[in-house]
Amino acid sequence: MSQILEVKGLEASYGPTKVLHGLDFSLDQGGVTTILGANGAGKTTTLRAISGMVTRSGKISLAGTELSSLSTADITRRGIAHVPEGRGTFVRMSTEDNLRLGAYSRNDKAAIAEDMERVYTYFPILKQRRGQQAGTLSGGEAQMLAVGRALMLRPRLLLLDEPSFGLAPLIVQELFAILKRINDEEGVSMLLVEQNAALALELADHAYLLETGNIVISGTSESILENETVRRSYLGY
Ligand code: ATP
Repeated sequence: MSQILEVKGLEASYGPTKVLHGLDFSLDQGGVTTILGANGAGKTTTLRAISGMVTRSGKISLAGTELSSLSTADITRRGIAHVPEGRGTFVRMSTEDNLRLGAYSRNDKAAIAEDMERVYTYFPILKQRRGQQAGTLSGGEAQMLAVGRALMLRPRLLLLDEPSFGLAPLIVQELFAILKRINDEEGVSMLLVEQNAALALELADHAYLLETGNIVISGTSESILENETVRRSYLGY
């Protein structure tokens, strides 16, 4: 299988504090990979480093294009959409305007309209809410909007930071079923950060376990599910 992203020796810091200590990993084209780890392990920082939102060094190549010296805007333009922790939607704007904003770097009007309809087929509730201010959406709807907005970029790789955070279990099931459909039907590769390891391993085909800025275990989701350390510390059995 070919790789959409290859990362080598990735380091990242906040000021003088280094929080990623040389990560090596790759993501399969069309696959779903998850990064597991405790609070503060560096999961969010890994996504931010890929998107250019934090000082980093090392190699990050997207299907052969080197990204490590590019700005966030350029990285986005090359097809990486980041759905951040806390969603980052514009609360005073309508649902539809938030979606339209997701396509800000494109000028193919007809295709944008088509993509908006496609987002509405994945998330019919967003169509019902299209004129409503994003700040009035429920937590689940807001998360769906954040994913929908990212899809409006026509991304090759979707970075998802804790999409289940703060959502009721039934909503989480619904959201993850839709993420699975998006992966199957659009072929969008995904890198998922999740506190809920069991849920993440259900969606993902590969996983990395991060501890204090280092990858300590990696493998297929099946092999990770059988790993003693992961079971004890992250799955609770
Ligand atoms: P969480 O699940 O809590 O978000 P995480 O695995 O995503 O954890 P990161 O948010 O990447 O971890 O944080 C990694 C380390 O970097 C932690 O020690 C954290 O305190 C530190 N850190 C994160 N953001 C900043 C920041 N803006 N300034 C300084 N240090 C930060």
